[in-house]
Amino acid sequence: MFKFKEVIFVKSIVDQKNRPKPYLPEFAFAGRSNVGKSSLINCLVNRSNFAHVSKNPGKTRTINYYQINDVFYLVDLPGYGFARVSKSEKGSWQKMIENYLIQNHYLKTVFVLIDCRVGLKKSDLELFEWLHFHLIPFTIILTKADQVNRNGQAKRISELLATLRHVSRNQILIFSAKNRLGREELLAEILRKSEDHPAGT
Ligand code: GDP
Repeated sequence: MFKFKEVIFVKSIVDQKNRPKPYLPEFAFAGRSNVGKSSLINCLVNRSNFAHVSKNPGKTRTINYYQINDVFYLVDLPGYGFARVSKSEKGSWQKMIENYLIQNHYLKTVFVLIDCRVGLKKSDLELFEWLHFHLIPFTIILTKADQVNRNGQAKRISELLATLRHVSRNQILIFSAKNRLGREELLAEILRKSEDHPAGT
């Protein structure tokens, strides 16, 4: 069984050229503000308050690297979709996220989080279109699943598949930080994809 022995906040960057060393496989997490990203990362690494569970949406505007056991990095991307930001501010965040994601040989998968209660918003759709266009592998995580019954979850999945025609069912994961639903599945996907990493690159 995989143990999270070392969980270290390494660095905040704004440009992927400044990524930390050693170079390891990277797994990025993206989503609208308040989607449950910090809670998911804390749940995954078995720490109660590691990634900051934000009371103040919009504060995390850098790309944060967490190193796990010399095996991989979890990369926390800034939340998007804030209502009260200027156009230029929104543009600069978007650029930062896109610059990180594009031509990134270390990036194995982007996990895009969608709140099970809220569903897809325009900003999510834009991100999916962009990822699809640039052939960047992604998995969708439906968060806060404890807030929605099985019927509601199934409906949300159908909705996603109907809207995002290029997405298949095995690209969608149901998750809850509250009851740890989906954690093992998420971890298994990360470990499987970490192993694809060619040594020394
Ligand atoms: P972030 O802004 O995406 O990092 O979101 P946070 O992790 O800070 O979570 C936003 C809010 O949703 C907080 O009040 C969390 O307690 C709550 N939350 C996060 N994950 C879950 C979950 O799995 N279930 C429930 N019921 N609430 C959650």
